[in-house]
Amino acid sequence: MNDITRKSLLYKSGRGFWCINHVQGCSHGCLYPCYAYMMAHSRGRAETYNHWCTPSLVANAGELVAREIERMKTRPDTIHLCLTTDPFMYGYPQVTEMTLRLIELINSFGIRCSTLSKGRMPAELADRDRFPGTNTHGISLVSLNEEFRKKWEPGAAPYRERIGALRELHYYGCRTLVHIEPYPTPNIIKQDLLKLLENVDFADEVWFGGWNYNSRIKEYKDHKEFYREQSDLVSRFLSSR
Ligand code: SF4
Repeated sequence: MNDITRKSLLYKSGRGFWCINHVQGCSHGCLYPCYAYMMAHSRGRAETYNHWCTPSLVANAGELVAREIERMKTRPDTIHLCLTTDPFMYGYPQVTEMTLRLIELINSFGIRCSTLSKGRMPAELADRDRFPGTNTHGISLVSLNEEFRKKWEPGAAPYRERIGALRELHYYGCRTLVHIEPYPTPNIIKQDLLKLLENVDFADEVWFGGWNYNSRIKEYKDHKEFYREQSDLVSRFLSSR
């Protein structure tokens, strides 16, 4: 895996929260498409899709994060990992190792971390000698169908592995989250959202969102009604727990 260096790392995202991306590129290669890839491509940081799928580690990430937090007048409550790459990239232990070191570093300033991944969450996150119980760990999950995953998230962790690793963290007392977005319409795949929800009913938080940036969604005539129904289903499921 290649190393690169950056001049800065910590930034406030357009969504209002603080975030770091300590890897350039992402081997998961999602084809929804991946908004991070499109941005990197337009800014000349990823010439091709294959280039994007060959990640590089930001070698000076720890140094940058420590310096940037020290300089902040008002420190955030939480820092998110990551918005434009995956903190637990499947098949890349170097990424996981660096992510764990960065979480430990951020936590040492009294700042919580939230993570979101399509990889495999490591059990080390539950190590209370290393990490406080205030961090939140989440997975993205929009289907249980492996054919769908291979087509749309070809390099990401198989669903069973993804859910299993998160469930393990839950059993060890970590706060967990499942992000069901971008959820596909039935013209892409027919599936039962309730079944998916039942598979992750252990999670402390579940978020649901549609697939808003692919023209195939609009080809499904009742897509607005479909999303309303699915969103209601999620709300009913959550309030019945
Ligand atoms: S996991 Fe996230 S960053 Fe990586 S390719 Fe998929 S959408 Fe893009």
